[in-house]
Amino acid sequence: MFKKNAWENYSDAERAQLEGFAQKYRAFLDAGKTERECVQEAVRQAEACGFTNLEDAIASSHRLQPGDKVYANWMGKCIMLFKIGTAPIEQGMNILGAHIDSPRIDIKQNPLYEDGGLGYLDTHYYGGIKKYQWVAIPLAMHGVVVKKTGELVNVVIGEDESDPIVYISDLLVHLAQDQMSKTASKVIEGENLNVLIGSEPLKGEEKEPVKAALLKLLADRYGIEEEDFLSAELEIVPAGRSRDLGLDRSMIAGYGHDDRVCAYPSMAAVLDHEGVPERTLCAILTDKEEIGSVGATGMGANYFENTVAELCALCGFESNLVVRRCLRNSAMLSSDVSAGFDPLYAGVFEKKNAALLGHGVCFNKFTGRGGKSGSNDANPEYMAQIRRIMDDNGVDFQTAELGKVDAGGGGTIAYICAKYGMNVIDAGIAVLSMHAPWEVISKADLWEEYKCYCAFLKDAR
Ligand code: MN
Ligand code: MN
Repeated sequence: MFKKNAWENYSDAERAQLEGFAQKYRAFLDAGKTERECVQEAVRQAEACGFTNLEDAIASSHRLQPGDKVYANWMGKCIMLFKIGTAPIEQGMNILGAHIDSPRIDIKQNPLYEDGGLGYLDTHYYGGIKKYQWVAIPLAMHGVVVKKTGELVNVVIGEDESDPIVYISDLLVHLAQDQMSKTASKVIEGENLNVLIGSEPLKGEEKEPVKAALLKLLADRYGIEEEDFLSAELEIVPAGRSRDLGLDRSMIAGYGHDDRVCAYPSMAAVLDHEGVPERTLCAILTDKEEIGSVGATGMGANYFENTVAELCALCGFESNLVVRRCLRNSAMLSSDVSAGFDPLYAGVFEKKNAALLGHGVCFNKFTGRGGKSGSNDANPEYMAQIRRIMDDNGVDFQTAELGKVDAGGGGTIAYICAKYGMNVIDAGIAVLSMHAPWEVISKADLWEEYKCYCAFLKDAR
């Protein structure tokens, strides 16, 4: 009931548009495997669309006018895009929000060691992962090393076809009698997620010759020494590009759909907006959602509120009251992926309230666990407005909750933005194998999601 298969209605022309958008999304996914890379790519695309840096406007006290387009880069890990509307900013903004951090394996601060003639980096995983999924597959290393001088060294190893990859080994099945009887959370222990990065010793070196050779290589190639790991942020992610999935190419398998499949269309909807909007448009791509929206780059920090205060000031309103009114009067789609109904694991879903692949953008009135704990529970008045906007603009949508009651749960950034009193609802699309190295989405859902965001920016009040 209420759900229909989005594929049924596409004309050949819309099918071609959908495919074009899917390929642009895949390019974004391949360019951004870390939050920093996503921000770099977003800045590149925003500037290409005529957005300028808010810092420059602040420095020159440039008075913002309707139609002006600015972006704010927060610590290189979050980005906010704004297009100024004709209505006074205190009447609120139409906001699209999503996160650009994804589950992964981070390198520890003192990581490098040698054992059994092999060189390793020790790790600490980030976000909720099934650890056993991350072994015995090609992995890449992305991130930055910041030297004591402040010089920042960018690292990407394992993406180019000619690059080497890195790897986490698993126990051979022949000797796995004990391991195979363990529960899934213990099959691979967190401390065993050590990344194999080398095996050739430095000739003539007697003490830890493999480690010595690796240190020499790091010095020669990147100009970094062992202590520089102390001030590095290196992330181990699946190596390789996203792929079309299915004989019919109707799906995409890739790393980090959660939540770049919401982040990219949110950004694109603002970048692609034509003309001068009535209400100010905004997209926020934030960091640290996967570990609870904490830290200076998480949605729990006040960087967004601060940036809106700067924006209001540049629109001519320095009063704190205007900032509060602007936030209170805003409408937001807080977008994060939904658990796609998986027929192989049907038992954990309640089918009529589950997100079906290919059935359009998905709204979650609430998320959370247990008795909706930790959830933003959107008002029905707002939900009614959303339904109307979707129907008026021919967007296929569905509603869902995260699995059966008491089967588990999860949270998003929605409740944080709701603190300002703005209307917020969780939106997103269905994902299979969420938090696995390779996740799956439907191109039809991606397309309906983009149409949803464009309609929301145009019509939300
Ligand atoms: Mn997410
Ligand atoms: Mn997640």
